[in-house]
Amino acid sequence: MATFIVLLGPPGVGKGTQAKILAEDSKLVHVSSGDLFRENLKNQTELGKLAKSYMDKGELVPDDLTICMIRERISRSDCRTGAILDGFPRTPAQAAALDRMLFDFKSHVDAVPFITAPLEILVERASGRWTCRANGHIYHEMYHPPRQSGVCDEDGSELYQRDDDKVETVRNRVNVYNKQTMPLVEYYRGQGCLIEIDGTKDVKQVTENLFLALRQFYR
Ligand code: ADP
Ligand code: AMP
Repeated sequence: MATFIVLLGPPGVGKGTQAKILAEDSKLVHVSSGDLFRENLKNQTELGKLAKSYMDKGELVPDDLTICMIRERISRSDCRTGAILDGFPRTPAQAAALDRMLFDFKSHVDAVPFITAPLEILVERASGRWTCRANGHIYHEMYHPPRQSGVCDEDGSELYQRDDDKVETVRNRVNVYNKQTMPLVEYYRGQGCLIEIDGTKDVKQVTENLFLALRQFYR
């Protein structure tokens, strides 16, 4: 039976950071909707160009496009054993679509770690974020600086600051999250798979708490 884990939480809380650690440990694939849109943008696809107009404002890309992109991604053979979903679903319609997709694969959402932190921490983390151009490795100028400024430790590629990590855009992304994504907390609580994680701790501590909670959850 495949394992599907949904990482839920506001922008900048550390979902991508934890997803990469969890993926390495569990051998499940990390599927990030934001990374998929940025990949499309880099390749100048029609989807990428369309998504950019929403991403620049900190708005959500329309559900039909997002659901279609994720359906295609998780249909690939590397997701047969499951995946760690990061940034998807973000609306009730996306959550319902995910349930239907996984039902078709004779599977379901197993666990939903819900990572939280207050607004000032989200803004500080997003505005100090540096991302690797080649593979999306994540750094922070204060909390996780690369060995050499502007260069990815893992693959030597250039690090850049995301356009949507400007303070005003981050604030809008958090507003959008509060309005459109917060309803998913009760949705997954109702399904009995929500696990609340304090995201204010350092990366190592959050990982420890996440692993501990998942272990207890699966016991
Ligand atoms: P998200 O995927 O939720 O938007 P990221 O994983 O990209 O968040 O993290 C946002 C920024 O915060 C990155 O610069 C990352 O290095 C940093 N970060 C992530 N988790 C922590 C943490 N627990 N403590 C301090 N900084 C963190
Ligand atoms: P992220 O990398 O998760 O912070 O996402 C960056 C941006 O991509 C978001 O602000 C949205 O514009 C878009 N995006 C990512 N995931 C979704 C999603 N599930 N639904 C709609 N838009 C998304």
